[in-house]
Amino acid sequence: MVIPPKFIFVTGGVMSGLGKGIITSSTAKLLQLCGLQVSCLKIDPYLNYDAGTMNPLAHGEVFVTEDGGECDMDVGNYERFLDLNLTSSHNITTGRIFSNVINSEREGKYLGQCVQIIPHITDEIKYQIREISLKEHLDVLVVECGGTVGDIESLPFLEALRQMRLEDEYSDTFFIHVTLAPILDSVGDQKTKPTQHSVQELRRIGIQPDLLAVRCKTRLTKDTIRKLSLFANISSDSVMSCHDVPSIYSVPEILYEQGITNVILKKLNLIRQLDISNWSRISRTYNTYNDSVKIAIIGKYVNLKDSYVSVYQALLHASAKYSKKIEIDWIDSEKFEIPHNNIQNSGALNEKLKILDIYDGIIVPGGFGSRGSEGIINTSNYARENNIPYLGICFGFQLAIIAFARGVCNLSDANTTEINQNTNNPVIIYMPEQQKLTNYGGTMRLGSHLIEVDLNSIAYKIYNNISIIRRHRHRYEFNQNYKEIMENNGMKFTGYSDNKKRIEIFEIPEHIFYFGIQYHGEFHSRPGKPEPSFEHFIKASIKNKKKKNN
Ligand code: GLN
Repeated sequence: MVIPPKFIFVTGGVMSGLGKGIITSSTAKLLQLCGLQVSCLKIDPYLNYDAGTMNPLAHGEVFVTEDGGECDMDVGNYERFLDLNLTSSHNITTGRIFSNVINSEREGKYLGQCVQIIPHITDEIKYQIREISLKEHLDVLVVECGGTVGDIESLPFLEALRQMRLEDEYSDTFFIHVTLAPILDSVGDQKTKPTQHSVQELRRIGIQPDLLAVRCKTRLTKDTIRKLSLFANISSDSVMSCHDVPSIYSVPEILYEQGITNVILKKLNLIRQLDISNWSRISRTYNTYNDSVKIAIIGKYVNLKDSYVSVYQALLHASAKYSKKIEIDWIDSEKFEIPHNNIQNSGALNEKLKILDIYDGIIVPGGFGSRGSEGIINTSNYARENNIPYLGICFGFQLAIIAFARGVCNLSDANTTEINQNTNNPVIIYMPEQQKLTNYGGTMRLGSHLIEVDLNSIAYKIYNNISIIRRHRHRYEFNQNYKEIMENNGMKFTGYSDNKKRIEIFEIPEHIFYFGIQYHGEFHSRPGKPEPSFEHFIKASIKNKKKKNN
């Protein structure tokens, strides 16, 4: 039987950072496990057209989709939980909606009308949401509305969602409101007042939630649930305790145990059975290991862990495969920053770098600009000289090449033109195709490209394939004029794209594991299916740990 498209809307109350994205992903996962065609969409009420120009230190990682969309990091959670590749249309912003409406107005599509928030902006929002559901033949689309109820920016979106409830059958929409029950140290009980106020605010807009997902340090007590049910006008089996758990991948299970699936299926008029066993098998592994592997993530945006969330998740997936817990230290590369030609200080620098000996492996993720880059180059040199497993991603790939050019090929001023335009040895250069672009947003080499892998290489052993598809986000690339000198000195280039025009992978065969990727392997990693370069990096780190212990 064909079912009409259903929509679950997830709104947020009280404050940001409650894990709405994980609750959205977990709800979608449970419905997917019921055998339904499910996907997720993120609404970001900010004015930016997309997340591409936003500082990762303020907003977290920019997640890149296969089609080159620069999206909010929640899209990464959706992909990881649902094991789906989404497109950029799964992230809509105020900027995107307004831009479409204004373009239509300029094209004369509104035929003399006065163009307004209601109905033109709200119609465009509804159109974007319904379009995904239709195009992808979805049974259920879970739509997460970013921000907090009460924000001016999110009003047009909430209004559009309210209208959708009115226009569709009552059984076709479901509202989840995510809030917080704080515990004050002095008293110790779970406070319900912030949730009461936030539900009132939502009702004022015209939305009565069907379910409350309440974040709390501890499991909600019966009394708290009773109170929330009474004040929010929601039956008590629709108040879900979202207490702290050791792994995000356990959230679907805690919601399932409280009966969220039955509540949703009943309201949406769907009859389905759910088998959670496969998911539980994967998610349980994340909490159980005693033995660990210790990794340093060295980069520029380490003050906000969310700026490298996909890298962190990929490490988690990879270490679970080897039954290891992952211990991560986030280190700001500026710590290892003394200009490379300042000989007086090289002793002090070496002392600083020695702290890296305690790690089983070192990973350098993506980044931009000069701050901290010399520190990364020093780190890359140290890992190479001391046989510490190293995985360099994008900027980490580029800076390890510079380190090799300086440290091994005697090209002492080797650099990227991103940092020094006048270097005599530009081993990393601006991609010629990008040369004429003047805009900043959406102008990088973005999204998926096919990569050919040399048969006789470590890369081939890792991927067990002569071609892979991976996602990109960069403006600079390896300058192949330096390929010969680098290869003669022991660095091999074993992955290419665009008919060998671009280099995608380097490796040093003599090293325990020294591997660099121009692409972002982390965006492909899924729980239970780690991305192979991360998997082999962890494998080498475990080997290194054993070697150190013997
Ligand atoms: N800044 C580098 C470039 O633009 C690397 C980008 C990245 O690490 N994502 O090529």
